[in-house]
Amino acid sequence: MICVPLAEPTSKQARRSMIEAAARADIVELRLDQFDELPDSKALAGILADRPCPVIVTNRPKSQGGRNDWDDDVRLKTLDAAIELGADYVDVELELAGKIGHRRRTRLVVSYHNFASTPLDLKKKYAELVDTGADVVKLATMANSIIDNLRMFDVLREAAVPCIGLCMGELGLISRVLGRKFGTMLTYAPMDRAKETAPGQVLLDDMIGLYNYRSITSDTAVYGVIGNPVAHSVSPHVHNAAFRALGINAVYVPFKVEGDVRNFIEASRGIPVKGYSITVPHKQDAMAALDEVDSLCRKIGAVNTVVNHKGRLVGSNTDWTAAIEAIETALIGETLAGRRVALIGAGGTARAIAFGLRAKGALTCIFNRTPERARDLAADAECKWRPLDEIESAEADIIINSTSVGMHPNVDETPVPASVFRRKMIVFDAVYNPAETRFLREAKEAGCLTVCGMDMFVNQAAQQFKTWTEMNPPRELMEAIVREQLVSLED
Ligand code: NAP
Repeated sequence: MICVPLAEPTSKQARRSMIEAAARADIVELRLDQFDELPDSKALAGILADRPCPVIVTNRPKSQGGRNDWDDDVRLKTLDAAIELGADYVDVELELAGKIGHRRRTRLVVSYHNFASTPLDLKKKYAELVDTGADVVKLATMANSIIDNLRMFDVLREAAVPCIGLCMGELGLISRVLGRKFGTMLTYAPMDRAKETAPGQVLLDDMIGLYNYRSITSDTAVYGVIGNPVAHSVSPHVHNAAFRALGINAVYVPFKVEGDVRNFIEASRGIPVKGYSITVPHKQDAMAALDEVDSLCRKIGAVNTVVNHKGRLVGSNTDWTAAIEAIETALIGETLAGRRVALIGAGGTARAIAFGLRAKGALTCIFNRTPERARDLAADAECKWRPLDEIESAEADIIINSTSVGMHPNVDETPVPASVFRRKMIVFDAVYNPAETRFLREAKEAGCLTVCGMDMFVNQAAQQFKTWTEMNPPRELMEAIVREQLVSLED
């Protein structure tokens, strides 16, 4: 179930929001502590009468995330009144569970909140909650590491009593989405950010539209992107839309991994995750946690795609194939063999592209701001190198920017002067935000054939999708979603 928490200051507004929420949610949580003044029995009766969906009535103290700090007796009195009025659920903190009077037909939710951490003895907390005789138990704890979510999933998996289990904060996002797979009774999703009642809640629109929450079952396959930061990643939009379009029972989530990525990959084998995209800063370190990586991936020294083959995690690198595919499209049937390429940059992307160019027989020269890095990469990828300030001497058929220069918000920057461009050169920019960088604009003005980083982005997403599902990716849809998301990121 999806539960919309109602953080409203008056009965009238609570009633209005309840009607709005009921159109898309299954249940609402009436947060009495959010009211300016505590509603009396009459006002409460007005809110609960003819309610359009089931209601959980809650009145939290400040220490447990509430807005007002009415004393315990006052809070208990309103919860007892809600029971008298036939509320569907009443939610009370563990400490007060024994003080709730006769429950009548109302089901009692007994909650444990921890805004500092997810304790190691989570299962003990669950048992304590069950011992109160609750109809539903709720554990909401702060995630300080993404691994905390995995312990919450263990509790949900083993729960014999209906359980709401979630981790709060940015690192707890996956518990709010994937909890359903492991049996949580509900997830909380506010209608807008201003109405958030706990840190890290996923908005109702995203829960339904982005994560396809209603389709998640215990059989749903889990995919995701490991990175830091990942909050603004376009990939969940692209892959979830593709899963939905092809009717695949799968969900793709952002895994924000701080610290050692190997620990997370090892711990999450139990979910299990069927496929990962891996992004900055984990592309190198993730390799050590995998059971197998292909040979080019090993040479590049970075992995961006992982597929789970019957429990074995197999890594590959679609950055180079995606970039090469984008450039080859511009070659219209011809090959890269023997083409002179000036590759600007010597970071992770340059490394993948340099090995790809070598595999295709191109004649590459690497130009980089820090000459030593160009020299080192050139030695590994067996090609030439020069300092970036010698770029104007480059004799190239193809120029590639694999630096981050020109990326949003620094859209007025470009890594090279426009004078390097010659008519009919092929010019490719790995930067995909914005779709047309200054580098590409100046190349186009000089009569070059340009290829944008978005093509590479869509290629790598499509290749990952194919690797995971063995189905043809809905490319046009993926491209449309990337475009739409990049526009919204720039706003
Ligand atoms: P990285 O490893 O941090 O490397 C950054 C590179 O940019 C280095 O060569 C660095 O030179 C150079 N650089 C940074 N600032 C510079 C400046 N002001 N002037 C000259 N050179 C500068 O980054 P990365 O992971 O390779 O990513 C590079 C870009 O590729 C990013 O914009 C990323 O979004 C994009 N990318 C796109 C796709 C796609 O699908 N289209 C996929 C992956 C990456 P030094 O060595 O001198 O520091």
